[in-house]
Amino acid sequence: MESISVFDMLKVGIGPSSSHTLGPWRAAERFCKELQAQGLLSNVHSLQAHLYGSLALTGVGHGTDIAVLLGLSGQDPETMPVEDVQRIPRQIGAEQKLNLAQSHPIGFKPEKDVIFHFSERLPGHANGLIFRAFNSQGDLMYEGAYYSVGGGFVVKEGEDGQGNFVQLPHPITTARELARYCVEENACIWEVVLENERTWRKPSEVKAGLLRIWNVMKECMYRGCHTRGTLPGGLNVTRRAADIHDKLLKPCSYTDADEWVACLSRCDYEFAKVLKWIGCFAMAVNEENASFGRIVTAPTNGAAGVIPTVLMYYICFTEKEVTDDDIVKFLMVAGEVGSIFKKGATISAAMGGCQAEIGVSSAMAAAALTEGLGGSVGQALMAAEIAMEHHLGLTCDPIKGLVQVPCIERNSMGAVKAITAANIALDSDPEKAKVHLDEVIKTMWETAQDMNTKYKETSQGGLAVNISIKVPEC
Ligand code: SF4
Repeated sequence: MESISVFDMLKVGIGPSSSHTLGPWRAAERFCKELQAQGLLSNVHSLQAHLYGSLALTGVGHGTDIAVLLGLSGQDPETMPVEDVQRIPRQIGAEQKLNLAQSHPIGFKPEKDVIFHFSERLPGHANGLIFRAFNSQGDLMYEGAYYSVGGGFVVKEGEDGQGNFVQLPHPITTARELARYCVEENACIWEVVLENERTWRKPSEVKAGLLRIWNVMKECMYRGCHTRGTLPGGLNVTRRAADIHDKLLKPCSYTDADEWVACLSRCDYEFAKVLKWIGCFAMAVNEENASFGRIVTAPTNGAAGVIPTVLMYYICFTEKEVTDDDIVKFLMVAGEVGSIFKKGATISAAMGGCQAEIGVSSAMAAAALTEGLGGSVGQALMAAEIAMEHHLGLTCDPIKGLVQVPCIERNSMGAVKAITAANIALDSDPEKAKVHLDEVIKTMWETAQDMNTKYKETSQGGLAVNISIKVPEC
C-alpha cells in the first residue's frame, strides 16, 4: 500500500479543481520532465493534449484546458503569480506559441491542440489524459497517458499509485490500524502521524510546512472575505462572502490576515453569528477557488473551504487558546483521516461523487477538531464517521461544469456537519457507537460504485441539467 504524507493530502494549488485543474497541470509538468529526461524536449515541434471522460465533459468549466497549458509552460501552481493564471493561456492563444517547460518555444493552437473526447474514457480512471509530442516531420516522438485520480494526485498508465512506497514506522490503511498504533504507543493521533512524517522530514520541517499550509488557508479566507464582484465562467454568480463578512464584523481595525484573525478571536460572537461566520469563511475560500485563486487542496479544491473554516472556528470561537502547535496537530490529524479515505475508497468526485470531496473533508475536519478539543482517539474517529455517514450518497452535479453551484455553499454545509459531528462525538462513548469509521468508508466506496455516472462530475445529471442558465456570449 502506498505511503501518503500529510503534505500529499494538503497541497498548495490553484483553483478551481484538484482533479480537473491541479492534476492535469501536474500531468503536463510530468510529461515535460519525461521529455527532458530522455533528451527529447529540444526536438519537439508540436504537441497535442487529449482529454477523456470527466476531464472532457467538465474540463472547460474546471479550467482543465488552462491547467494543461500552464503545466506544459513549466509554471508551478504553488508559486506562480495568480494574476498570470489566465494571462499566460490568453497569450498562448493570441500568439499560437507555447514555451515548453519554459525553455523550448513551439507552435501551439489551443483550440486545435487541446482535444476533448466527450464520449470516450480511458480504461484506468474517469479522468484520463494523453500527451503526444511530434517532431518536425510530424512523427510521434513520445506519448504518455496519465490519470488524475483526485486531490491533485497523478498516476501514469501502468503505475500502481504515485510510487511513494517508503516503509513507515506505522503503516496505516484503516482507522482500526491507526487506533491500534495509538493504543500501543499510548499516543494521540497526531503523535502517530508525526512519527510517520519523520520518515520524510524533521519535526521542525513538518511544523514549518504545516504552518505554511495554514498561512495559505488564512490568506485565502482573508482575500475571499474582502473581495467582491462576479465569478468567472459565465454563470454570473455574485461573490457573497465579503458582504456577509462586513455585516458580521464588530468594530475592530486590522491591516493584514494575522491581525484580522486576532480581531475575530477577541470579539465575543453569539451562536447565531458564529454560524454565519462559518458560512462566510467557507464561501470566501471557495469563491477564491472559483476565481483561479491560490488555495490549499484539502483534500480537493472543490472542498477546499471545509478544513480552513473548521480550523478558524477552532481558533476564534472555541474556549481553547489555540497555539501554532495546536494548528499543526489539527492539520496532521486531518491529513491522516483523509489518507485513510483515499486508501479505502476515493477522494475523486469522478469516482465517487461529492461524498468523496465534501464528505471526506468534513470527516477530516471533524476528527481534527475533536482531538484538538481534547477528545480521545475513539471520539476523533467517531466524529469522522459521523461526518461521513451524513454525506453518504452525495452526488456531484456542478452547473455548467463550474465549481460554483452547488460547490461554494456546500463547503459551508460540510463545515457545519464537521463541527456538529465533533460535538456529538465529544459527548459520546465511542465503544457504544453502532457504526465504525472503517465500515462507513467501505459503505462510501460501495455507494460510489453504485452511483450513476451522470452524478460523478460529468454535469450530465442533477442540478447541472435541471437548472437552465443562459451563459452570455464572450
Ligand atoms: S459538487 Fe462537490 S464534488 Fe462536485 S465539483 Fe462541486 S464540490 Fe466538487
